[in-house]
Amino acid sequence: MLDLEKIRKDFPILNQEVNGFPLIYLDNAATSQKPQVVIDALNEYYIGYNSNVHRGAHTLADKATGKFEDTRTAVKEFINASSTEEVILTKGTTEAINLVANTYGRQNIKEGDEVIISTMEHHSNIVPWQMICEEKGAKVKVMPINDNGEIIFEEFQKLISPKTKLISVVHVSNVLGTINDVEKIIEEAHRHNIPVLIDGAQSSPHFNVDVQKMDCDFYVFSSHKVYGPTGMGVLYGKKAILEEMPPFLGGGEMIKEVTFEKTTFNDLPFKFEAGTPNIGDTIALKTALDYVNEIGKDNIARHEEELLEYCTAAFQDIKRLKIIGTAKKKVSVISFLIDGIHPFDLGMMLDAKGIAIRTGHHCAQPLMNRFGIDGTARASFAVYNTKEEIDQMVESIHKIVARF
Ligand code: PMP
Repeated sequence: MLDLEKIRKDFPILNQEVNGFPLIYLDNAATSQKPQVVIDALNEYYIGYNSNVHRGAHTLADKATGKFEDTRTAVKEFINASSTEEVILTKGTTEAINLVANTYGRQNIKEGDEVIISTMEHHSNIVPWQMICEEKGAKVKVMPINDNGEIIFEEFQKLISPKTKLISVVHVSNVLGTINDVEKIIEEAHRHNIPVLIDGAQSSPHFNVDVQKMDCDFYVFSSHKVYGPTGMGVLYGKKAILEEMPPFLGGGEMIKEVTFEKTTFNDLPFKFEAGTPNIGDTIALKTALDYVNEIGKDNIARHEEELLEYCTAAFQDIKRLKIIGTAKKKVSVISFLIDGIHPFDLGMMLDAKGIAIRTGHHCAQPLMNRFGIDGTARASFAVYNTKEEIDQMVESIHKIVARF
């Protein structure tokens, strides 16, 4: 059992009223709130040892560098990478995918080749592939899904061909909550020697991730969804692949030696980290990961599963409400529609009661098209959410439905 009272006290933002009501924050798939320890870590850096990393010959720079590299080690452990050389620090999931598209993609995708993604991708795992494929005269192919929001594995198998250069697929859908069987997809891809990128933006906050067990070639995630700061994220890549990849951005940090005639590049992971990085936020990410580890990922998963089940059951009793995304395996993300009430209006009416949900296409327009809808309302739960908060949301929705 989690000590929810204590956990909620760890997140100062939760203790406030919005529009005259206690805040009920159910937009965690967009970004999670930050515990006080993470905010403190940011403050401590700027107040105590703000300094540039990897090149300092003084005490503050040494401390900043040590703490910065401690985060890399914490990330390695968090996802069970085999070495810190495999952990590239980025601005977030989006930058990490663009990095792979612009390096691995530009190097390996040729005219006539194909990249396979799925119908339930976030725009950040669609557009970079479209851009590189357009540049190269290659094609993006799409794994279809069933009406529950699950990838149809047999159809995916049919898409694989000798032209397939990469498969990039989301671990957990930010709209449907579906947990994809990525191990099975990776196994199938590897039978054909095709590398796989896993978009972990929505899996990293919810359950334990082991990149070695999964055997993915790349795994990407964002700090701000795992209780860490924004503007910070991770690209994991298998060492052998990263070593073959050309650099992404050019500049300081990523070089070994520069002359006007020729530049040699730094070793992993620095080859992919040009310029002064996001030092403070990187340091605070370790604090966030420590916080998650302290509560325990399995405990978080169990609590969120309970919230998912509880909310799903309560939604069954709301007239005209339909859940979009009914996969067998889901995380605590629920998209829904209420017949006769536009999601945007529903969101506004809940906001008037201090209840924050998300409405719209959730950066997944092709998925909306698949379901023949423009958008959904979405409630998504994190470690600090409670059944009482779900009760409040459900009661408010009942009242709204009765009124319309
Ligand atoms: N993929 C998925 C599944 C997401 O949910 C998100 C964020 N909503 C992203 C990618 C992009 O993450 P970021 O904006 O942090 O780069």
